[in-house]
This record gives sequence, structure tokens and C-alpha cells, in this order.
Amino acid sequence: MKRYSVFAVAREAARYHTGWERAWRSPEPKKKYDVIIIGAGGHGLATAFYLGKNFGITNVAIIEKGWLGGGNTGRNTTIIRSNYLQDPSAALYEKARSLYETMSQDVNYNIMFSPRGVMMLAQTQHEIRGYQRTAQANALQGVKTRFIDPAEVKKLVPIINIDGPRYPVLGALWQERGGTARHDAVAWGYARACSDMGMDILQKCEVTGVRSANGKVVGVDTTRGAIDCDKLGMVVAGNAGNVAEMAGFRLPLESVALQALVSEPIKPCMDVVVMANTVHGYMSQSDKGEMVIGGGTDGFNNYTQRGSFHHIEETVRALVETFPMISRLKMLRQWGGIVDVTGDRSPIIGKTPLGNCFINCGWGTGGFKAIPGGGWATAELIAKGEPGPLSAEFGMERFIQGRFIDESVAAGVAH
Ligand SMILES: Cc1cc2nc3c(=O)[nH]c(=O)nc-3n(C[C@H](O)[C@H](O)[C@H](O)COP(=O)(O)OP(=O)(O)OC[C@H]3O[C@@H](n4cnc5c(N)ncnc54)[C@H](O)[C@@H]3O)c2cc1C
Repeated sequence: MKRYSVFAVAREAARYHTGWERAWRSPEPKKKYDVIIIGAGGHGLATAFYLGKNFGITNVAIIEKGWLGGGNTGRNTTIIRSNYLQDPSAALYEKARSLYETMSQDVNYNIMFSPRGVMMLAQTQHEIRGYQRTAQANALQGVKTRFIDPAEVKKLVPIINIDGPRYPVLGALWQERGGTARHDAVAWGYARACSDMGMDILQKCEVTGVRSANGKVVGVDTTRGAIDCDKLGMVVAGNAGNVAEMAGFRLPLESVALQALVSEPIKPCMDVVVMANTVHGYMSQSDKGEMVIGGGTDGFNNYTQRGSFHHIEETVRALVETFPMISRLKMLRQWGGIVDVTGDRSPIIGKTPLGNCFINCGWGTGGFKAIPGGGWATAELIAKGEPGPLSAEFGMERFIQGRFIDESVAAGVAH
């Protein structure tokens, strides 16, 4: 596949853009692969990419029931940060954040990583204590964050109202190298690089059954026929429970819709990401000028990938005291994605009851930031058959052993 470069752009400009190739192939399924990954979201594609890049395993199919990146990966609000409290989380999310720094070069695709800074507002005494604790923990973990005072918050975000009547801004946890990236470019970049390594991305191909014998997976049934494999990776986020059921085991998680919305585009007014976890809303400005606004999860389990009216009101009401200017904005679009939430709000990367079947799921409301790290760790797990240092603590046996990685309080909303 031809490399994207400034020279390629100039060459194509001179010949009226007639020479661009398709970014990835759309092959027919083969009868058998060394590894099948179910789910062409960010984590599935990143797993395939690092299987090829780090372990030389390229006889791989990534099977997607819709279009690649059409799940949560193309629906999130793109916040990237690694300021978690517990050591295993900080290690995993910081690995991911650092891989984001060079991803555009690594996959030769501009993913528009923008380390513009992420702040989590402290609006209660409890939050001040919580974020100061996280800043101390991050210092020990080698994750660069600091607790800043209201004056610095105001300097970084002039549109913020720090004297709100109910929830004044009392400070913030600030991660300067956190930020955003273009979410579908992350999926497209990995897909192109995987296709270039000879892997098959099979879109519009739903896995409908998992075939096993003697405690091992032998293949999957799909809407495009049966396909065999030596190893299977399940990386299907909100559908993890359904796919696990096909393989005969249950997962300790729930699926719920998480919603977001964007406003009409306006002139640049905020160049950092702000999360307000007490009132529960978060906001950044896209390169097009839209205010990207995220809210909470639905209060009941469901599989509806769409928004609901009362969520617009709830989310905007939460934010309008801190950002009075948004009361003047028209909202353009709203949507939802199905997120898979575990009890300790930490992901699952680990083995399953079937010997050659591995799972990556449970990212809940915050797995976009983890895509390169999650893919790296899952590739290592699949290639070696055992978890490596990044994923060692994240196996689902922790729920039987009571070894939780509790991020539910520290992460607030975990986006
Ligand atoms: C509104 C919203 C806002 C969010 N904001 C943030 C944020 O700001 N920061 C952050 O870090 N995270 C955020 N997240 C969470 C983040 O988007 C997810 O954790 C992450 O994208 C999960 O990636 P994935 O690859 O595991 O899942 P997905 O991208 O959902 O990919 C799974 C894929 O599996 C496919 N699949 C499912 N079942 C089958 C089957 N039977 N056969 C074949 N294919 C199948 C699906 O179609 C899907 O494409 C947000 C999520 C939502 C919904």
C-alpha cells in the first residue's frame, strides 16, 4: 500500500486525485485463520495491529457485523487521559496515552491527536480531597498531573463561571498531555495498517455462533458462512454478554446506552477538555467549532444506540451553571452507544473458560482513551496465551477473588 505523505498529496494534486487506492481491502472470508477477532472497533483493530506489529501474526480476520468503527469507537466524545487512581489502571491508560502521541506516525494516518489538556473540575470538598489524592497517586505512578486552583482554571478556560451558586469551581485535576483525537481516524488508521499487513477485515459479517470442542474454540458461524480459527479474540464492547453467551459463559457486566450531543459550530472559545463530574457533564470544542457534550448513562439496561430527549435537558442543565454561554446554543445532533460496564468500572482483558478464547471488554464509558494500550495488551495475551504485565490484573477472575480495581469513585464519570 502506498504511504501517505506530503509528496503523495502533491503528486495526487497534480493528477486530479486519480491515483488514491482504497484504504483497506474488502476480501471474501477464507476458510480458516490463525486468529479471528470479533469486533472491528478500536480495541479489535488495535489488537490485530499489534498482533502483526509486535508478534508477526498476520493470518488474522477482524469480523464486524456493521461497518468498522460504527460501534462505540465512532460514537464517543474522544477524551484521552490517564489520571486514574489505581496502579494497574494508571499503567494501562498511560501506556495508551503515550502510544497516542506517536500513533499517526506508527500507522501512517493522521489521527489528529490533540494533547490540549484535560481538566476534571472539583466542585465539592469531597472532590477536592479525591483529586488531590489522585494527583499524589499519579506522581508516584509517573503520570504527570497536578491539582490547580480556581484562578488557574479560569485562566485556562475563560468561558467558565467559577462562582456558580450551587457548585462553584474549587479547583481541578489538570493533565496537560491529555486531550482528544479524531475517533473514526483511529479506527480507519488501524484498519488500513492491518489490511496492509495482509489481514482481512470482514465488514457486514455478524458472528452468530461460536463452535467449540474439548474446551477449545474451533471456529465461528457468521452471516457470511462458517470460519475456523486457532485462536479467538472477543472484542465487542456492549455486545460482549451476547457473544460470551454464544460461547457458553457469562460475564460480570451490564450493557447500557451512553449518550452525547453536539452544538452548532461556533468560533473557537475553549481549547481544553473540561469534565464536571459532580454535576455530570463534560465538554470540548471540535475542530469544526461544535461544542461536544457528553452526559451520563441511561438508568436501565438496553441496546438502543440512540439518544433520548430528556437526556439533552439533563445534560445541558447540569453544564449551564458552569458554562452559562451554552444556554444560547442550538444543539445539532444527539446519539448513543452501548457501553459495557463492570462492577469496579475497570475493563476485562483476560482468558475465558475456553482455552484458546480471549476477551477484551468492560471499558464502559471510558475505553476510547485506552484503545492503543488495550490492543497492545490483548495482542500480547492472544499471542502468548498468558497475560503480560499490562493486563495481568484485569482478568475476570478478579470478580470471584474479590480483587477489584476500584475506579468507580476515583473516575467519577469515567470518560
Ligand atoms: C456517547 C459515548 C461517549 C464516550 N466518550 C468517551 C470518551 O470521551 N473517552 C473515552 O475514553 N471513551 C469514551 N466512550 C467509551 C468508548 O467509546 C468505548 O469504551 C470504546 O470505543 C470501546 O471500543 P471497542 O472497540 O471495545 O468497542 P466498539 O467500538 O463498540 O466495537 C465493538 C464492535 O463489535 C461489533 N460487534 C458486536 N457484536 C458483533 C457480532 N456478533 N459480530 C460481529 N461484530 C460484532 C460492533 O458492531 C462494534 O463495531 C464513550 C462512549 C459513548 C457511547
